[in-house]
Amino acid sequence: MSNVKLPSRSENYSEWYNQVIQRAELADYAPVRGCMVVRPYGWALWEAIQRELDQRFKATGHSNAAFPLFIPMSFLEKEKEHVEGFSPELAVVTVGGGEQLEEPLVVRPTSETIIGYMYSKWIKSYRDLPVLINQWGNVVRWEMRTRMFLRTLEFYWQEGHTAHATEAEAIAETRQMLDVYTDFAINEAAVPVIPGRKSETEKFAGAIASYTIEAMMGDTKALQAGTSHFLGQNFAKAFEIQYLDAGNQLQHCWTTSWGLSTRFIGAIIMTHGDDQGLVLPPRLAPIQIVVVPIFRSDEERAKVMPVADQVSQALSAFRVKVDDRTEVTPGFKFNDWEMRGVPLRIEIGPKDVDNGVVTIARRYLPGKAGKSALALDNLAQQIGVVLDEIHDAMLDKATRFRDANIHEPNTYAELLTTVENGWAYASWCGGKDCEAKVKEASKATTRCMPLDQPEDKGVCVVCGKPATAKVYFARAY
Ligand SMILES: [Zn+2]
Repeated sequence: MSNVKLPSRSENYSEWYNQVIQRAELADYAPVRGCMVVRPYGWALWEAIQRELDQRFKATGHSNAAFPLFIPMSFLEKEKEHVEGFSPELAVVTVGGGEQLEEPLVVRPTSETIIGYMYSKWIKSYRDLPVLINQWGNVVRWEMRTRMFLRTLEFYWQEGHTAHATEAEAIAETRQMLDVYTDFAINEAAVPVIPGRKSETEKFAGAIASYTIEAMMGDTKALQAGTSHFLGQNFAKAFEIQYLDAGNQLQHCWTTSWGLSTRFIGAIIMTHGDDQGLVLPPRLAPIQIVVVPIFRSDEERAKVMPVADQVSQALSAFRVKVDDRTEVTPGFKFNDWEMRGVPLRIEIGPKDVDNGVVTIARRYLPGKAGKSALALDNLAQQIGVVLDEIHDAMLDKATRFRDANIHEPNTYAELLTTVENGWAYASWCGGKDCEAKVKEASKATTRCMPLDQPEDKGVCVVCGKPATAKVYFARAY
């Protein structure tokens, strides 16, 4: 970690993003173009994301399993829209063990096909339903333009795949998992996402309806942070996922899939990060609290260190680190942990010890405003309260930033100006032509149609015809 300043976000947002990832040691570039190495600190963040999501998946009745990395090429070809959507991004294995393979194998870009194939073997009767399975794993999509965490050839994620007896149940599942993602994003990551439905153009290849959580990044671009798809009977028909109903009639299942990936780390970096580096939400931060003892002599050291150890023990319910390095100054340590986004710093100097207090500094609120003193008595309880307050304040700050950058344009010209530096919440006729026209003119795409729609939707801001939905237009990652 060097002490050279980061480029500011206003100066060069993209370079700021790349340097934060490197200097906070979240990830590094791999020798293969477009691949990344997730470093231990980045992986610890991903593990925290996994932990919170996995708990929610299990609480809603899902189990984890593992399906193979390789999928026969013919499987993908069974669902027409699916193969059209994914074929430009496929990595294909044609040689194995030195032999030309009889059938090329695709490195999974997603697993609907192979899981659909297995479900057709496992599901026989309505008594076997619903099947509620999730898998944690990696997938490969051969992207041409890559950015660490946001778009890499290989990435890590979870993909849920469920099969149901009725359409209504499958739709309810799709919406339930959208709610799970929304709850996770807001209550664990302090990322104020907007849930909604994707347009026909933007939906998943092979889905009837796709739902998304969309987040606004610090440069006002949108980021799709998680998706939940209602697949209807498309995959059930392609893979003959069928069951005998109570009346002994053969029926096709209704299926769903839903996923959230390491891309979400990009969402955390760009929602909360500032010009000093990463700012991590306390409930996901691999290190929630760093304790920095401050001393200038052996005598001071002898006074301060036992208190630092005592504080670390008192806070054992949290993820705490005592930075007892002697080769660097406290100032260096402050910058170092600020770059890594540790939500709370506890400083303990000789004066603090004399006064029976510690000084705390909140990462999201730099300078004096974020500092205060806490009594050593009952420290754990006080720190718990402070971390909750930090979560709330980070969520509030991000929500205010988001709302300040969403505007409702009344004309097409206003729409184009708005999406240059923010999101447009606009009336839309639902037509693909209007969507394409906006994209062509501004690079902005429709992000989502919020679930709560007003009664009176007005007229399409592009063509003037009656609108069918209010939709967010924005440039996106
Ligand atoms: Zn229109």
